[in-house]
Amino acid sequence: MPQLAKRVGRAKPSAIMAVAEKARKLKAEGRDIVSFSIGVPNFLPGEHVYAAAREALARDSGQYGSNRGSEALLDAFLGHMAKLGLEGYRRENCVVAVGAKHILYNLFEAMLDEGDEIAFPTPYWTSYLDIAEIVGAKIRLLPCGSEQDYKLTPAQLDEALSHKPRVFLFNNPSNPTGMVYTPDEVKALAAVIAKHPDTWVITDDIYNRMLFDGIAYSNFVQFEPSLRERTVFVDSLSKTYGMPGWRVGLMAGPQEVAKAVVTLNSNHITNIPEIVTAAAVAALSGPQDVPKAKCAEFAGKRDQVMATLESIPGLICPRPQGAFYVFPDISCAFGKSHKGVKIDNDVDFCNVLLEAKGVACVPGSAFGEPRSMRISYTCPTEQLPVGLERIREFFAELS
Ligand code: PMP
Repeated sequence: MPQLAKRVGRAKPSAIMAVAEKARKLKAEGRDIVSFSIGVPNFLPGEHVYAAAREALARDSGQYGSNRGSEALLDAFLGHMAKLGLEGYRRENCVVAVGAKHILYNLFEAMLDEGDEIAFPTPYWTSYLDIAEIVGAKIRLLPCGSEQDYKLTPAQLDEALSHKPRVFLFNNPSNPTGMVYTPDEVKALAAVIAKHPDTWVITDDIYNRMLFDGIAYSNFVQFEPSLRERTVFVDSLSKTYGMPGWRVGLMAGPQEVAKAVVTLNSNHITNIPEIVTAAAVAALSGPQDVPKAKCAEFAGKRDQVMATLESIPGLICPRPQGAFYVFPDISCAFGKSHKGVKIDNDVDFCNVLLEAKGVACVPGSAFGEPRSMRISYTCPTEQLPVGLERIREFFAELS
């Protein structure tokens, strides 16, 4: 057989999917499984989104569309950005693609030549590492453990940027930790970035509508307007509108970057479908009841998860204020056993927890933090207390 390109060998299959697959298998064998593994929103967008898609289907031209995205969708995105406090952008700054993942892929291709450096904090969302590997970038990881609430400090950022990485990638609110940087924290990091002019900045803020406790969304460009020249804001409809399979990602940044991404789009995808576009416009500019209600529901679920985790002796868990993840530091369990089965690390922990209690969580090493595990709490409401009680029992049974 002829050889495949080296770049495909550099990306690893998803560790999150591996856990989900094992959980599915056990379920098929008749086991009662609670899944805290995949970060999918378990809800549907409002009826107005489907109505818009049906109308578009009725009048669909079947023709190719714009490589940048339709004007109606770009305008709806600009409207959403203005509500977030990101004003003064125009259509020329924006591009639509097939999910935020595809936007990120495009941006990495547009900004990074083979061997160029990209820096980002750990824990990180898994695909950052894989996409960076595929494009052949050099990766600088900035470790942010539970002892610093999984958040990057200005001093760490200053040190990292002194190496002049081509790209600094930032994720707020965070997948996998659910942590949110306060406006003051974002401001302090922005001041550091302003001192290092050689680096592009990508802010992956796809959970920006899922903020709890009255915390406000903020972005570097709000504190350091000069950073607009080299900062790209990334958004998605997947999580907050319950539309992961519709595949809509968006970005806003410098016109030159947007132009490069449009060129990549013209060679990768041409356009996202007209029907999906109509649904996306309806989601962004129609009633916001669904994302608002879901945000309130997730805040309540976060409280439920935290109440259990805080009752477990030795467990450290910074309190998340967004998204739908909690990322406890489970290292207090390492070296212990569950009913005679030794637990040496996060992968053992998640395997034994799944086998013994039927609860699926993702080992932190999938996100570059092997002391922790990710709990995604989007499961059906009635399953949440069941899974949490099993985790509490599991810890109590360790010896
Ligand atoms: N960024 C983060 C932080 C994510 O969690 C995800 C999805 N898990 C993405 C990007 C990709 O989202 P999309 O479905 O829009 O491709």
